[in-house]
Amino acid sequence: MNILIKVSGEVLQKEGDGILDMDILRTVAKEIALLKEKGHNIAIVMGAGNIFRGRALTDSDLSRVRRDTMGMIGTTINGLALEGVLQQLGLPTKLYSSLKAPNVITYNPLTAKTHLEEGEIVLLSGGTGSAFFSTDSAAALRAAELGCDLILKGTKVDGIYDKDPNTHDDAQFIQSLSFEEAIDQNIRVMDQTAFMLCKENNIKIKVYSKLPFSNVHRALEDNSFGSTVSN
Ligand code: UDP
Repeated sequence: MNILIKVSGEVLQKEGDGILDMDILRTVAKEIALLKEKGHNIAIVMGAGNIFRGRALTDSDLSRVRRDTMGMIGTTINGLALEGVLQQLGLPTKLYSSLKAPNVITYNPLTAKTHLEEGEIVLLSGGTGSAFFSTDSAAALRAAELGCDLILKGTKVDGIYDKDPNTHDDAQFIQSLSFEEAIDQNIRVMDQTAFMLCKENNIKIKVYSKLPFSNVHRALEDNSFGSTVSN
């Protein structure tokens, strides 16, 4: 199966202890190696929440485009770090960025798809390359371009709820729903365009708790784990 994993920046850091943690990076790399051993092709969309998000510094003079560009560049920093530890494990990788960056391949969906199908771990940084989007939108877009069957999206909670479970005690867990339901009910786990892209391209989205990172295996193999959005 061609799987796209969204790796949030926060997953790569130890709270209150710098932007990146090497032990965590190595653990993430080992779990990805295990997925690879199971025979899957793996693409990874990097987030940057550990470094910078465009919605920070909103009260500053920095424009949204500038702040989003800072966020997109942050995803490439994370990509360089994760690629380094994957290579230390002897795994073949290709790191792409949607924005031009030194020592990183500028994203090209045609070569990236070939690399993915040849079994290389394809790391995707730079988001969509455009401000006003998130790395979730990038995950949906890249999954469609690369022919992925499934997006594994770790979140802060254990799946999808009808309202934010952090602020509503009566929030109901939803184990599975269609793209239409996700769009109609304004489920915020991904934006509406991302849901539309996945619907049109028949890409399943699995939402589950991003910590511990080893949850990726259960998310992939256990239907009763997390929530699924599909056609
Ligand atoms: N970003 C952007 N366009 C994109 C993807 C990301 O402008 O296509 C910027 C945006 O400012 C975002 C930041 O990059 O806040 C980091 O991405 P995200 O917040 O999705 O990272 P995560 O929360 O997954 O670590």
